[in-house]
Amino acid sequence: MRKWLIAAAGILALGISGASAQNFPTRSITMMIPFAAGGPTDTVGRLVAESMSKNLGQQVIVENAAGAGGTRAPGLVVKAAPDGYTILLHHIGMSTAPTLYRKLAFNVLNDFEYVGLVTDAPMSLIGRPGLEAKDMKGVLAYIAKTKEKTSYANAGIGSASHLCGMLLQAAAKQQFNTINFNGTGPAMTDILGDRVDLMCDQTTNTTGQIKGGKVKAYGVTTKTRVKSLPDLPPLDQAGLPGFEVAVWHGIYAPKGTPKEVVARLTTALQAALKDPKVIQAFAELGTEPVPQNQANGPALQAKLKAEIEKWRPLIQAAGQFAD
Ligand code: ASP
Repeated sequence: MRKWLIAAAGILALGISGASAQNFPTRSITMMIPFAAGGPTDTVGRLVAESMSKNLGQQVIVENAAGAGGTRAPGLVVKAAPDGYTILLHHIGMSTAPTLYRKLAFNVLNDFEYVGLVTDAPMSLIGRPGLEAKDMKGVLAYIAKTKEKTSYANAGIGSASHLCGMLLQAAAKQQFNTINFNGTGPAMTDILGDRVDLMCDQTTNTTGQIKGGKVKAYGVTTKTRVKSLPDLPPLDQAGLPGFEVAVWHGIYAPKGTPKEVVARLTTALQAALKDPKVIQAFAELGTEPVPQNQANGPALQAKLKAEIEKWRPLIQAAGQFAD
């Protein structure tokens, strides 16, 4: 009798979770962002969340969980209930953190379900308005003169700005005075205020300031020019041969989230990336949605694996690790 009751309870539980997966979502969803509000990851997240809300018929609410170079938010998401109501939008940092951090509260390859890729945003190297350097050659001369006093803003170890700064330090053969912020949104305030010399950040944060002439701009990190910033040369052609970083973004759910729920989130992501409002906003910020065939779990998982392998040797060579 007892055995029968346990089996019946199991069948019932399965039935309920199956049914609730089919009805998903019946309430609002939280999208965790690993950096401060007002920064580039937040901007991408809010645009996509708003559009996904329309498709899902429920609000996707953005929650900023900044800290530890972007590694705090994934640590929180893996502890959330695997029901699709807590998801994570993160960037390239998911592929660098496993090498940068000696200890992490999550395993990027084992602890998540993969919803899909979102966008590949170029980065741009900017300087405070009063910086004497007019172009990349000038920046290299400034670094050679100012040496370790050259100040560089980033969003902590594991952020894209950290990765770009690491490449810049290697190219300039000079360690900088690195200043950590909770995100490059807050860091921008210190660049605008002439308090930090340089920052490398997604065009989704810098385009407005560059176009408004509020900051100095030296180049983009893609090998080709960015449509919305046609005057900026690729750093690769401006004195830093081979320099290339693109900040890819993806959406994740905790491991164990039902397949139907992940598929529903993927459908909503694909719809968001076809939304003319998102396409236009992305274009103004110097980026574009990934093609539809990359807005899915297998594409994100494959990208993550490939990028872990790509960055591991470079990070190991730079020798910048964190606990
Ligand atoms: N762009 C930042 C980074 O360096 C993070 C942010 O504030 O979105 O990763």
